[in-house]
Amino acid sequence: MINVGIPRALLYYQYFPMWKTFFEELGGEVVVSPPTTKAMIASGASRVVADTCLPVKVFLGHVLSLVGKCDYIFIPAIRSLKSKIYNCSKFLGLPDMTRAVITECPPVLDPDVDIDKGMKTLYRAINRLGRYFTRDRAKVKRASLDAWQAHLDYRQLMSNHGLTLPQAMETIPGKYKSEGSNLKKATGNDSGNPASTQTNIALIGHPYLLYDEYLNHRLIHRLEEAGNKVLTPEMLTIDELESASVKVAGTTYWTYGEEVVGAGECYLQDGVDGIIGLLAFGCGPDSMMMEMVRRRANSLRTTPFMNLVLEEHTAETGMITRLEAFLDMINRKKRGRQ
Ligand code: SF4
Repeated sequence: MINVGIPRALLYYQYFPMWKTFFEELGGEVVVSPPTTKAMIASGASRVVADTCLPVKVFLGHVLSLVGKCDYIFIPAIRSLKSKIYNCSKFLGLPDMTRAVITECPPVLDPDVDIDKGMKTLYRAINRLGRYFTRDRAKVKRASLDAWQAHLDYRQLMSNHGLTLPQAMETIPGKYKSEGSNLKKATGNDSGNPASTQTNIALIGHPYLLYDEYLNHRLIHRLEEAGNKVLTPEMLTIDELESASVKVAGTTYWTYGEEVVGAGECYLQDGVDGIIGLLAFGCGPDSMMMEMVRRRANSLRTTPFMNLVLEEHTAETGMITRLEAFLDMINRKKRGRQ
């Protein structure tokens, strides 16, 4: 049986059920790296220049933790998911960069996902990937369709039931489930709509920042433990995210921009009590998109907004202090209104 290693970083959070379904249906076995640790970040950071963004350093640390544990590592080059909308350059070169800086890396399965070049190119890339497991093209097609369905189910589960990504992974049938997830239920809500009795805090940003508990110092749990209801971009439908994003930014240039601009706008319009934007130090696209949300929040003057920038030296105490000050301010504002 072929073992395929999947690093628990970057796009793992969005696509794990889809990838796992695909490989398992083709007879492969999936091995996921353990949750992020300090040692992983240090090992990943040691392979690249200092100003590489934190999520990429984390990703490389996860790849290193899989060396010797799998036959292949799956690192797709996701270039575009829509015509004329491109991904951040780090994603484009991820397989090549990994091979270059981790010479001991197992062979990389690196399909190009470039919808801008048309669906035929995508189907060819999927077939080439499937050939590592079988020569039966019909089997590859079946596995792809089932994988896509798994992705749609996963996405719908989150937007229909107001679940976070880890909650959805725990909820969907066992075959999609990630082993070793150390995340418990992140929110207590069974609906994505903010309830008026609780303080609703929306977290916006990419899933690899929102759900990596080591990187964000257990932000979701901290907010919940303080009695807040946490709302995330995945609790909104793709349509809601996209139309809100278009409204604020016009046609977005970057893939995954809706997780920042679209989610920010939706939650501003929903009237949540506060919005926290998580971004990584050294991230070009997010520094611009978060700024758009900040300006929008400033002009509407209805919802407090705070940015938290994460890097490998982000001190837990500093983050807690900022969080507490932000929550105090929101609660004072709420009490004043009442
Ligand atoms: S979007 Fe930003 S944080 Fe994400 S990989 Fe690109 S540069 Fe890094």
